[in-house]
Amino acid sequence: MTWEIVVGLETHTQLLTESKIFSGASTAFGAAPNTQASAVDIALPGVLPVLNAKAVEFAIRLGLAIGATIAPRSVFARKNYFYPDLPKGYQISQYELPVVQNGSLKIATEGGEKTIRILRAHLEEDAGKSLHEDFKGMSGIDLNRAGTPLLEIVTEPDMRGAKEAVAYARALHTLVRWIGICDGNMQEGSFRCDANVSVRRPGEPLGTRCEIKNLNSFRFMEQAIEYEARRQVELIEDGGKVVQETRLYDPDRNETRSMRSKEDAQDYRYFPDPDLLPLVIAAAEVERVRATLPELPQAKKERFVGQFGLTPYDAELLTGARESADYFESLVRESGAEAKLCANWQNGELAAALNRDGLEIARSPVPAPSLGALVKRIADGTISGKIAKEVFEAMWRGEGSPDAIIEARGLKQISDSGAIEKLVDEVLAANAKQVEDYRAGKEKAFNSLVGQVMKATKGKANPGQVNEILKKKLAG
Ligand code: ADP
Ligand code: MG
Repeated sequence: MTWEIVVGLETHTQLLTESKIFSGASTAFGAAPNTQASAVDIALPGVLPVLNAKAVEFAIRLGLAIGATIAPRSVFARKNYFYPDLPKGYQISQYELPVVQNGSLKIATEGGEKTIRILRAHLEEDAGKSLHEDFKGMSGIDLNRAGTPLLEIVTEPDMRGAKEAVAYARALHTLVRWIGICDGNMQEGSFRCDANVSVRRPGEPLGTRCEIKNLNSFRFMEQAIEYEARRQVELIEDGGKVVQETRLYDPDRNETRSMRSKEDAQDYRYFPDPDLLPLVIAAAEVERVRATLPELPQAKKERFVGQFGLTPYDAELLTGARESADYFESLVRESGAEAKLCANWQNGELAAALNRDGLEIARSPVPAPSLGALVKRIADGTISGKIAKEVFEAMWRGEGSPDAIIEARGLKQISDSGAIEKLVDEVLAANAKQVEDYRAGKEKAFNSLVGQVMKATKGKANPGQVNEILKKKLAG
């Protein structure tokens, strides 16, 4: 009996504003505890929240980037619950009327492209943090994070399985960084996902879901969803029932554990916050923000396929981050070479070297114009692709421009047909057996002869020419 895994994701993205959503306190990460908590953030009596316009602009950016409706009027609500890191006793969020409604995001799956519907994205404030280390028998409270602006982005239950959920989370992660609204730092908690997981037999209505909280890496997300789905299937097959609850993923043991039974919306006693006016966004403001958006990852990916003839796979890799896509466009421009050759170099040698040294592309020791100068020398026949790898390594180590390295090491390809002909004659004379084999129909013998000529020139002979001249001589 097969089971279908159904996943819906809720993602909390911390917005890159300098100050908090309802106060002027700084949002910078890593300050000493409680040094960035203003009277508003610690909820002293009599204070009033003032909405940060930048946070609203960022919500609009995201909404436009996912093709959503920007609500002309949305409402802040109080979500009431008690917790030590929530000084007001309620979180200001949006409930019935969120600012962003009904968008979508495309993801690449094994079965091709798939559209994931995004039901809503709403603005809210983050809570503080409880600190359990460093205190014996007590907990510390750090309210620096209290009031940090969040945009919570909620999908429909459209993903089937852990791989699709991760593909969506990655696409969203790319997008929020691309449009500059979130730094995407998962370790610091700037991009946190909750996964809602249920299982059903195909064709059945949706099963009861469990929500797994605070998945802070893509790998953990995949493992947690897979574990949770397996747990639910086993439970049902043993005659049990899934209970709706909130669970925590423990990466050390690779399992999810029950944290609390799931609250219903009514437990939170939501009501409109009387301290804040409804958020009214004029159409002109939406258009102003739209004009500031860059070309988006999906559009760029389609253009890389359409305009440059790249495979969707290459285009997907190159548009994984805006810096990477910018690098590629600069590489194509500077090299004047075929886009495919450029893609092979960026996704091959360059990606491997960056990965090996743990570097972001923006910090590459070989910037796009330099790699472009190298690729240009492959394209114009000065060096072979193989020699270019040696030149690239030298560039990586800071030995200079490709032309200087090619010159200093004498790596120029030998394209003088007279010189190559002479070498071919020598190789043919010294390898009578292979020549005989080739003439007897053994194709492999030909490759071996090419190899010998290349070896004699330390790889510098123009391989195309060697092939041509050899063929001519062997036929004659
Ligand atoms: P809540 O507000 O209680 O978290 P929502 O109804 O807003 O609940 O849903 C939260 C998330 O759970 C959404 O991403 C939604 O797609 C997902 N979800 C809802 N039902 C299911 C289900 N049966 N299986 C998997 N995911 C689900
Ligand atoms: Mg939820």
